[in-house]
Amino acid sequence: QDDGVEKWVKGVCRFCGYGCGVYVGVKGEKVVSIKGNPDAQTNFGFLCVKGFLAYKSMYHPDRLTHPLIRQSDGNFKRASWNEALDLIASKFKYFHEKHGKDSVAYYGSGQCTTEETYSFNKLWKAGFRSNMVEGNPRLCMASAVGGYISTYGADEPAGAYADFEKSKCLFIVGSNMSECHPVGFRRIMRHKRNNPDVKIIVCEPRKTSTASIADLWLPVDPGTDLAVFHSMAHEIIKNNWIDQGFVERHTRITDGSKALTLEEYGKFLEQFNPEAVEKITRCPAENIRQAAQWFATSGASMSVWCMGLNQRTRGVWANNLIHNLHLLTGNIGKPGADPFSMTGQPNACGGVREAGALSHLLPGTKPVANDAWRAHVEKMWKVPPGTIDPKPGFPTMKMFESLGAENDPNKPIKAMLVCTTNPAQSLPNLNKYLKGMDDAFLVVLDIFPTRTTQFADVILPAAFLYEKGGVYGCSERRSQFTEKAVNPPGEARADLWIVAQLAKRMGHEKLLPWNEADTMKAGEKAWNDYVQITKDTGHTLLGATYQRLRESKTGLQWPVPSIDHPGTYKRYVKGMDPHMERLQKAGTIPSEATVYFYEDARKEGKANIFVRPYQEAAEMPDREYPFFFTTGRTVEQWHTGTMTMRIPEIARSHPNDYLEIHPDDARRNRIAMGDMVKVVSRRGEVTLPARITDGTMPGVLFTHMHDQAISRMCNFVCNDAVDPGSAEPEYKIAAVKIQRV
Ligand code: SF4
Repeated sequence: QDDGVEKWVKGVCRFCGYGCGVYVGVKGEKVVSIKGNPDAQTNFGFLCVKGFLAYKSMYHPDRLTHPLIRQSDGNFKRASWNEALDLIASKFKYFHEKHGKDSVAYYGSGQCTTEETYSFNKLWKAGFRSNMVEGNPRLCMASAVGGYISTYGADEPAGAYADFEKSKCLFIVGSNMSECHPVGFRRIMRHKRNNPDVKIIVCEPRKTSTASIADLWLPVDPGTDLAVFHSMAHEIIKNNWIDQGFVERHTRITDGSKALTLEEYGKFLEQFNPEAVEKITRCPAENIRQAAQWFATSGASMSVWCMGLNQRTRGVWANNLIHNLHLLTGNIGKPGADPFSMTGQPNACGGVREAGALSHLLPGTKPVANDAWRAHVEKMWKVPPGTIDPKPGFPTMKMFESLGAENDPNKPIKAMLVCTTNPAQSLPNLNKYLKGMDDAFLVVLDIFPTRTTQFADVILPAAFLYEKGGVYGCSERRSQFTEKAVNPPGEARADLWIVAQLAKRMGHEKLLPWNEADTMKAGEKAWNDYVQITKDTGHTLLGATYQRLRESKTGLQWPVPSIDHPGTYKRYVKGMDPHMERLQKAGTIPSEATVYFYEDARKEGKANIFVRPYQEAAEMPDREYPFFFTTGRTVEQWHTGTMTMRIPEIARSHPNDYLEIHPDDARRNRIAMGDMVKVVSRRGEVTLPARITDGTMPGVLFTHMHDQAISRMCNFVCNDAVDPGSAEPEYKIAAVKIQRV
């Protein structure tokens, strides 16, 4: 729709972590169209429905256009920015003085720009000297981070989307990619159509639209896939499909405390022979054998996964076991071969993971507990040594559990700033956490009223991405720039201005010297401040200057060590990874190495093949709660529907969530298509219309996660038990009972 567009402004899609490049069409002072950027190396001009309709949400009449302060009668009253910011600063100061530095928390989002997340992180960790900084990526990607770090010593994939078209076998697991990352899936679909010999394997409890192009479906009960991965490893070793040289040169086998031999690993895996695993998982033994063979012998196998692996109490282990398959068969470090975790949100990687905006991290993805890195960051931030607390703050679920009234001695967090996310709808086991949000002093920064703003004391009206601009980093280590296209409506302001104003009022102006109205200028200063920290590291962005990112049509993949470096398609490989070259020149790693995992904590350049025990979900079906309950996305909607439910075309196409139930279960429970079904877990209940489909396995119920009606919000039912390795909750698996109403 080019009609009437006066200028096209380069940007990035506001929604999923795939990172499609866009052009935003502006007419007068308004965005009137969005089209795909044909030069973007992520999407080559294609967009999904969310991407090209995003601008319609910007002009919905519900937009927040001025600050609001809750009055003593419970109602909100319009306020000036000075009144709102002064109130927040005085409250935060009061809590800090009375209840200590950790009594005020920040809860951010993988949807803020990197500059914004970095600024809030710096204000909290250097200004307030508090690590009570979290973000919703804890709920989606923390297990993938744990998997990458424990296996390779460093976060994020070695490869890139460019591996899709080079792959000969794609193992898609725990991801309904066709709906969750549809433009990426389109590339895989086209690759399969052009190369019918390419094998596609899908491992899921549902026969999703992704599985419709698969050569092989591995149906598994939720949470049992660890046994399938072990079984594939068993077949690979038993049939000697391993890459012996790769295993010897580049891996160590360990159970976490001691080294094991390949023989000992093979012995451990005997319990996971395919027939035994079929009994645990319901996945046919012959499917497991076939999957193992195709994966091991294709010559270039790539795994792609997402929340189905991460949102689990054994999410880190599940990630480790996928990496094991790649390491055993040498399917990493060569074209088309890569273990690749897709990210849920558009800037979870760039803003939260890389800029270290979690309670245990610092910018540069290294832990606050790392003495040398803390000292480095303190030096870069020009704050006295010892400023940053070496003790991590609370991860998300503990943070919300600790949030409450000032006079409640069991709730150490008294105030929270929630930025661009909607925890009052999106946290699992919602009933447990709403009171804390209600009792505490809550500040919410967003573009629309949400379920969370209902609990706020102060609401700050924010700018939409195309009203402020900034950098997003997508799943493939690629940072891309969005130019500001139009002004925000009314008195809505960019987060970067808001955080700088807060810093000024709290006496930390020097930490954020980008307190200016021009968000592009402020953004450049914040970006420069951030990337200096990454200099000479394995994920340096030093050469990705603001100017380069603004001029580039497709962004840059780190490491980007210098302004003449084109960015990195593949890490850990000689001739491709500039950081490896740097280390080889410095003599830090052997010059003859062609593949080297240089972030290995033991400095041997090896990756860990982890021998993890099998463990099922925290809550399994039983006599009282006989069904698995699992959740996911639909292609049209985004998370809690705050934006997409305000796009008329999308609201019409997916107006409400529903319950997918297998015909056998429906028959046994006398449920017909469209009947209202109450789903009850040990934590809460929802009532959804039934959709009878054999796309889900018997005994497994599925719904989407977008509905805003309280009676249909799936998170009242979901489990908040967390992975001990990543603190990510087990959204994906709950035990429930059902009743037709
Ligand atoms: Fe946006 Fe993701 Fe759709 Fe691309 S696939 S247009 S990034 S929502």
